[in-house]
Parts: sequence; C-alpha cells; structure tokens
Amino acid sequence: MSPKSYVITRAIVNRLKKENITFEFDELNGCISFNYNNKKFTMNVDNFPFQPPKLLEVDNKLIDYAKSSNGISNIIHDVFGLKCLCCISILCPYTWNLMNKFTDIVNEYEKFMNIINDAKNYKLLIENNVFCDLPLELVNKINSYLKV
Ligand SMILES: [Zn+2]
Repeated sequence: MSPKSYVITRAIVNRLKKENITFEFDELNGCISFNYNNKKFTMNVDNFPFQPPKLLEVDNKLIDYAKSSNGISNIIHDVFGLKCLCCISILCPYTWNLMNKFTDIVNEYEKFMNIINDAKNYKLLIENNVFCDLPLELVNKINSYLKV
C-alpha cells in the first residue's frame, strides 16, 4: 500500500506568491513551510482556504494556544480582557475567514505570544506579592493599561 500523497492547489500557490512567501511543500503530510520573522512556520493546508490551516508549528514546535494559556487564562481574561485565545484565533474553524492571509496567521502568532509572555510576567508579579503592597487604586490603574 502506497501512502497517500498530498497535492498543493494552484489557489494556495497563487496566494503564497501574492504574499511574497517562498515556501516548500511536503507531499507526505500536506504541509507548507516558510520562513518569516526569522522563524520557520509549518502548517497543513489540506482543504485550504475552505478550512483554516491545521497543525501550526513554529520552529518545529506544535502550537496550541489553549495549552500555552494553561495557568494564565484567568489573567488573559480578567486583566487583558480577552476570551480564550484558541477560540478567538483566526485558526479556529468557527472564526476562520476565506480571505485570511498566511501573514495574518504569522501576525496573530506573534501577537498571541506577546500576550502569553505578558500574562506569565503578570503572574510572576502576583506570585511575588508585588501587588499586595500597592493600593488597590494603583493596581486597577496599572491593569487598565494592560487591556488589549
Ligand atoms: Zn478556546
């Protein structure tokens, strides 16, 4: 039995070209890879653009926004005023739009990673009781600057 091999559609090739993205396509897993912002982005584009890309990897590490928000989702919600990152992501099948670009996925990744890092730093401040010594008004004022 020969393994299934994937074919990249002309529509995807044209879109990548339009975005000036030089890419490689892996017929064995249906994934495109390209370098952007000094990082390697890989994703499965089967059924693209009717379905969002799946199995996003950055520098060969699988990206799962729900998993990355583990333990900081309350900060992301309460302090940054955002809903669950995996649900608001353009990669979620419910929010996916046919017109989304590959660079939109890259930009969202960078934005989400910044939010996740900020939330982790915020958690460290809480764990080190930095906010305990501050008047509530000041804490609220700081928090009001953190809303995304
Ligand atoms: Zn979610």
